[in-house]
Amino acid sequence: MKNIQFPDNKKFIFTIIDDTDDAYLETIKPVYDLLHENGLRTTKTVWVYPVRDPERSKGDSLQRPEYKEHILDLQKKGFEIALHNVGSGDFERPEIIEGLDTFEKIFGHKPSHHVNHSYNPDNIYCGSKRFSFPMNWIVKKMYSQYDSFFGEIKGSKHFWGDLHKNDIKYSRNYEIDQLNTFGKNPYMPYKDKVYDEFANYWYSSTFASNQWMFNQRVNKKTIDQLEKEGGICILYTHLGYYHKNGKIDEGFKKAIEYLGTKKTGWYIPVNEVLDFLMEKKIENGVPEYIPFWFKKRLELHSLITRIKYRYFVKKDDYHFKLSEEYNDNAAIK
Ligand SMILES: [Zn+2]
Repeated sequence: MKNIQFPDNKKFIFTIIDDTDDAYLETIKPVYDLLHENGLRTTKTVWVYPVRDPERSKGDSLQRPEYKEHILDLQKKGFEIALHNVGSGDFERPEIIEGLDTFEKIFGHKPSHHVNHSYNPDNIYCGSKRFSFPMNWIVKKMYSQYDSFFGEIKGSKHFWGDLHKNDIKYSRNYEIDQLNTFGKNPYMPYKDKVYDEFANYWYSSTFASNQWMFNQRVNKKTIDQLEKEGGICILYTHLGYYHKNGKIDEGFKKAIEYLGTKKTGWYIPVNEVLDFLMEKKIENGVPEYIPFWFKKRLELHSLITRIKYRYFVKKDDYHFKLSEEYNDNAAIK
């Protein structure tokens, strides 16, 4: 795959897919103000309904008027608004249909980009179903309680696969252990025969679910390297964690300000990155479907990444959420 040429003398792409867990207006607004002031447009996921499993998840939903106004303002500024299921917890088909309609009424279009949330039973192709043999078997063993997902199961009360197929153009799957996401998966956005019945295009994201991981991945040196490689980063994180004790995480702030000074960076939301890559794929004759062996390698890479940050580097959300840093932050809320 040859290097991608970007328009307007841009040399690299950096964007964020922000999982809405823990995002409250008070903590998320300063973070988005910083992104906006530095010329970054990224993707923010949202919940339509309030959280139903407070023992597990927290954060604002579109039912809070001031938060909704903030999200509409982000949309006006050119940020992409995507779906993180209609809410956190147990939702059944009629509510999901209503939730998608509410999203459309608020933003003027149905959601076209979705990311599965945590243990939601309406998640689509989630848990061990994200992987093929033998990786699916390992995931089943490792996370045995993380395997009750029915979004694509016809006849289940949580089924919405048909709506997902109709409306959702982009879904997220495998995780990448380097800043240059595209460097590990030049097929994205790609189709996958295994998930074709109820999904469309898939993309990978750079695994950096909290500020510990973000700060390890994104700094002056790695940003310069991304530029040199002509790379494309779609970074997955929870920006709801980044504002604590009344201020934004220092490393994050520095990195975003550094990106802001780089006029060679193309800072567009995930859907625009993927639309651009789709055009390039067609131009360069790259197959629409991910090749079998390439997918196997990607699955293995994704699984090893998970295991590395859980058991060895110990920076994933399992460890982050046990830390004083996270719990101090939670206490203030
Ligand atoms: Zn989530």
